[in-house]
Amino acid sequence: MTANPNTATAERLQKELAAHPRQLLIGGQWKAAQSGKTFATFNPATGQPLGQVAWADAHDVDLAVRAARRAFEDPAWSRISSMDRTKLLLRLADLIERDAQELAVLECLDNGKPAHLARLVEIEGSIKTFRYFAGWPTKFGGETLPVSPRGGLQILNYTTREPLGVCALIVPWNYPMSMAAWKIAPAVAAGCTVVLKPAEQTPLTALRLAALALEAGFPPGVINVVTGMGETGAALVEHPGVDKVAFTGSTEVGKKIVRAASGNLKKVSLELGGKSPQVVFADADIDAAVASIAAGIFFNQGQTCTAGSRLYAHRSCIDRIVEGVAAAGRKLRIGNGLDPQSEFGPLISQEQWDRVNGFVQSGQADGARLVTGGTRPEGFDDGYFFKPTVFTDAGQTMKITREEIFGPVLTALPWSDPEELVAHANDSEFGLSAGIWTQNIRNAHRMAAALKAGTVWINCFNLVDPASPFGGYKQSGWGREHGRQAMELYSEVKSVWVNVS
Ligand code: NAP
Ligand code: MG
Repeated sequence: MTANPNTATAERLQKELAAHPRQLLIGGQWKAAQSGKTFATFNPATGQPLGQVAWADAHDVDLAVRAARRAFEDPAWSRISSMDRTKLLLRLADLIERDAQELAVLECLDNGKPAHLARLVEIEGSIKTFRYFAGWPTKFGGETLPVSPRGGLQILNYTTREPLGVCALIVPWNYPMSMAAWKIAPAVAAGCTVVLKPAEQTPLTALRLAALALEAGFPPGVINVVTGMGETGAALVEHPGVDKVAFTGSTEVGKKIVRAASGNLKKVSLELGGKSPQVVFADADIDAAVASIAAGIFFNQGQTCTAGSRLYAHRSCIDRIVEGVAAAGRKLRIGNGLDPQSEFGPLISQEQWDRVNGFVQSGQADGARLVTGGTRPEGFDDGYFFKPTVFTDAGQTMKITREEIFGPVLTALPWSDPEELVAHANDSEFGLSAGIWTQNIRNAHRMAAALKAGTVWINCFNLVDPASPFGGYKQSGWGREHGRQAMELYSEVKSVWVNVS
């Protein structure tokens, strides 16, 4: 048997974490919180603390925002050439690649997800994100526009793109490294400076990423990190020195952020919850659909904003699909993410476990049929493990059909009337994504047009790429990340009128 390469890395990281509290990065300096306060971050696979992390309050946040402002105005950043911004982003991508294995193990320890999947999705994904946005500084510009003002004036009208300013980036715990990369990369590509606030459950990879950015040569204060909980995020969104907030997390907190940002009318972009439908027609390739629907709900233990959590399958094939997805769920190898054999880790926290369990209880109480899962797996007394779970015979008004569970729980409903299918699939406060399974091109495109969702996948699911816009309709958010749209989120447009008569 070959030795598990993750074990030695994990032991070394755990020793370092236990010995030294992690500090804030403010203006290029690592600092303890001014209050001296720290909080613990935990390993969800064991429930044990990994180490202490600085707990920033409003004073530390103020220092970080001021540092970001100074860096924004400093010619070292404000006058940097677009090609030099490209070089910095590419260098950071190379450093993430150099440390990929260690970052994957760190994410596994802090978040619980299997290290090999963290590497594939989060670390490789972040490298790709930085390389993609590295291409934008030299290509993101304005236009000249054919205006026709009154009075016969001859006018040259052109637009420029300017960086928006100091951006607060608030990210969740489900994909900690990727969510930080999705925001930092376009923000700095556009010329902004940032204060990043990772989730209290998963601060570690964000801090490492910031250390790599310093090593890459980003000027001090361009990327700052404040860790903490409760007051930390709130202080950041209320701060009058912040020009924009980019947030990913719950719809509930998204609404709080909108209210808190109104003081100085900060620009706000939001990537919030989802309850994404998977729509299966009778003519679908059932085997392909089953495999992808299972991955679409069970990947990352269902803690994915785009999780395909509502299955609408045609009455003629629903039993086969539900049985297939349940069987795929039972087959998943549950385990500590350091084990390269593990395919399915723990949930993030006891709080999240209780929340998922509460939804399972409510599904049963409402009369849905539990096909598989619904409990802690046998032999996993420690940590926050929860079995892959499938409900069928659910109703459209049940809580398990309407609310975001953010756990490995699929709710299946049959359909027979296509009009009703569209109405039910769209009957949600969310509109983040949707999956369509059919071999009929007409069905596929009609449904793609009819579904109210920011992303539609046809005969595939959960594919993301920095080139393609990502975000939600309705209460799933404001704005789009990735692509040119992300560069627009972090910049202002200036229209310049020149009288050339
Ligand atoms: P959350 O509260 O929305 O947390 C996301 C981020 O927002 C964290 O960094 C959090 O920091 C920060 N935050 C919380 N309150 C804030 C405030 N008043 N002002 C500014 N920032 C604030 O998510 P959660 O409570 O951990 O998870 C609850 C539910 O949210 C989940 O069950 C799931 O339904 C949903 N969720 C969705 C996504 C997604 O990708 N769309 C991701 C995560 C969670 P601290 O908590 O450290 O203070
Ligand atoms: Mg943790």
